[in-house]
Amino acid sequence: MTSTSFQPDSPSAQRFPVVIVGAGPAGLTIANILRAASVDCLVLELETREFIERRPRAGVIEEWAVRGLRERGLADNLLERAELHTQCEFRVGGRRHRFSYTELTGHHHYVYPQPLLVTDLVRAYADVRGGAVRFGVRDVRLHDLDSDRPAVSYSDPGTGRRELVRCEFVIGCDGARGVTRTALPPHARISRQDYGVGWLALLAETPPSSDCVVFGIHPRGFAGHMPRSAEVTRYYLQCPPGDDPESWSHDRVWAELRERLGTDDRPPLTEGRLIEKRVLDMHNYVVEPMAFGRLFLAGDAAHLTAPIAAKGMNLALHDAFLLGDGLVARLTRGESAGLEGYSAACLDRVWDYQEFSQWLSEVYHGASSGDAYRAGTALARLRRLFSSPAAAASFAEQYLGKSSAS
Ligand code: FAD
Repeated sequence: MTSTSFQPDSPSAQRFPVVIVGAGPAGLTIANILRAASVDCLVLELETREFIERRPRAGVIEEWAVRGLRERGLADNLLERAELHTQCEFRVGGRRHRFSYTELTGHHHYVYPQPLLVTDLVRAYADVRGGAVRFGVRDVRLHDLDSDRPAVSYSDPGTGRRELVRCEFVIGCDGARGVTRTALPPHARISRQDYGVGWLALLAETPPSSDCVVFGIHPRGFAGHMPRSAEVTRYYLQCPPGDDPESWSHDRVWAELRERLGTDDRPPLTEGRLIEKRVLDMHNYVVEPMAFGRLFLAGDAAHLTAPIAAKGMNLALHDAFLLGDGLVARLTRGESAGLEGYSAACLDRVWDYQEFSQWLSEVYHGASSGDAYRAGTALARLRRLFSSPAAAASFAEQYLGKSSAS
């Protein structure tokens, strides 16, 4: 392991059975599962509570994930406030193609903005269940991961002092830019894929311009419309990787969205103030296995899926359910099977979603690739989707996350 040793048996060391690095959907869900079973843990988070409760990101949650949250008492607000989505729409060459996945399968998506879910999870863990969490920590480091008593150290934002926490398990839930992945041993395999495109991710203070998710397939590049609430809509515009978001003025953004999402038979988009504008370099990775001795990774720390098919938060929740339950079984009943099977059980769904994202990426980006062959095959995929009931059923199953055993 590339972790270091740090003052073993320091008299000031805190002790928790589990230390979770990162308070995103994965870390907070695991923390809630542990606290509900009276297992103590400490959550260490780089940002402030206010920041994580407002950070806009995902919105689409799959049925099995909501069921998992509900079974753990974590979905009350979600079930009250989430919208149900039953269809999506592809716009190609100015024509609209509705795809009613609920009609085909009887299943739907929930749309509930990630900041609301994170707010619910923090409240349930810290305020209701009295769980321990330190916000604003700096310089988190992992120690002695190859021993039975690993440790995590961090700088306390208030005192500036370096604190040490001894534990039995370290859980890396610190997302795509976290620190826990840097502690992996040399035999860890990290597979990566780069789509070679960027997406300008936008949040607009405006109601949705359609009642569903819209995918614009256009020779100038992909554009997406994702309703988030009655007041806020997420939009995406394909752009060169590494593009400067500041080169996208309000007027340029809306002109490009109008062009790529335009149709003959719908009113123009409802425009509004842009409250988030950032460029995502679209790439994926998968770490295998997801567990190394006493270190377990979950969510984006273990695998990234570019937001092509709205899968990242769902995968983070899937990992969290399995890992939370596995830790509880081990720490309360001495049963290790859940932890031993954790990585393999997660990776089946991870690879399934990776493959679907790759397939869908070609549909989105083929038309604008500048390669006539890719453009032709991308359009063939779309035609098959609209003309073949078997292809439509298969797409619906994957889009809803029903192709993996749940
Ligand atoms: P994160 O949410 O990234 O949480 C990690 C936490 O760790 C953060 O709070 C971070 O501050 C903290 N942290 C980082 N480094 C450290 C450190 N060194 N020490 C301590 N703490 C640290 N997914 C979907 O399923 N559906 C969607 O519709 C969707 N849309 C998306 C749209 C956008 C624009 C983006 C960027 C992502 C989207 N995703 C979507 C993906 C989804 O947001 C992520 O997959 C999800 O947040 C992963 O949760 P996580 O808990 O693993 O990681």
